[in-house]
Amino acid sequence: MLERLECFYQPATLRGALLLIRKVGRRGRIVAGATDIATQADRSTRFLIDITRLHLNYIHKGNGECSIGSATTMAELERSAVIRRLAGGVLAKAAAACGSIQNRNMATLGGNLANASPAADTAAVLLALDAKVVVASSRGKRKIALAKFHSGAHKTILNGDLLTEIAIPRLAAGARVGWSFQKLGRTETDISLVNVAAGLQADARGRIKWVRLALGAVGPTPMRARKAEALLLGKHLSEDLLMQAGAAVVQEVDPISDNRASAEYRREMSGVLLRRALRECATQAEVKL
Ligand SMILES: Cc1cc2nc3c(=O)[nH]c(=O)nc-3n(C[C@H](O)[C@H](O)[C@H](O)COP(=O)(O)OP(=O)(O)OC[C@H]3O[C@@H](n4cnc5c(N)ncnc54)[C@H](O)[C@@H]3O)c2cc1C
Repeated sequence: MLERLECFYQPATLRGALLLIRKVGRRGRIVAGATDIATQADRSTRFLIDITRLHLNYIHKGNGECSIGSATTMAELERSAVIRRLAGGVLAKAAAACGSIQNRNMATLGGNLANASPAADTAAVLLALDAKVVVASSRGKRKIALAKFHSGAHKTILNGDLLTEIAIPRLAAGARVGWSFQKLGRTETDISLVNVAAGLQADARGRIKWVRLALGAVGPTPMRARKAEALLLGKHLSEDLLMQAGAAVVQEVDPISDNRASAEYRREMSGVLLRRALRECATQAEVKL
């Protein structure tokens, strides 16, 4: 797979890495934890540019916003007190679901997003958190919504540029908030057949003030379930409403059949996982269904 590799670069500065990326062009690939690229790089890859010496593994919290360096590993995320406290710990839970501990010690958050698998476990959570990503090239840096980052299955808008940071904006304050991450895989360490992230806030009467629903592995890119969100907004949480939201999401997803599961099974399970997620959110938000 990498038999035509000519050089493995380990730049020590971001500027150095960006210059190298520009110099090697399409014959080069960025590598972080290498848990995806080791199985995907092809004969066209002549140069690997390792970004793990660029000090891009950090988790900062200031002014309510949380900034995570793209080379932060899943193991670092799941251990971080900041990430475990953030939004009921949904991102820590998703990171902890990314394969075995050996995989999570290597796998990075940036790699999970840049690889652009529809099933990436952190992507749905970050969509539900309204995250933004910072992309750097030799021309400068730009910040874009994660919702605009994935352009198709295994496709992003990166076009060879470097993802440096993931930024999670300040979350709504107040009581009666709940978050959930649900994953269905063949085994505990397998890739998701479906994953769901949900967050909501209820008012004192149990009516939904805001709600965010995102799913993975049920379309070409991780997706927000906007129709199900619209259906829930302003309504009283109840078992009946959960059934309606589950039915809405089943209509909204667009899964494929592959060697892991059929499209029909993924569609059905989208509704099941969404209801589970909303139930967990309701419990955290202290709303009786
Ligand atoms: C056994 C096994 C089990 C797995 N289980 C799961 C699972 O349960 N859930 C899950 O979501 N994933 C799983 N994965 C997939 C993988 O571990 C994750 O997607 C991981 O987060 C990828 O990160 P990485 O640092 O290893 O990426 P790499 O392999 O280094 O890179 C992946 C891709 O992203 C690009 N890239 C990496 N970093 C950047 C950057 N900063 N800027 C621009 N491009 C970049 C690379 O060029 C490459 O195209 C599994 C993988 C294996 C091997």
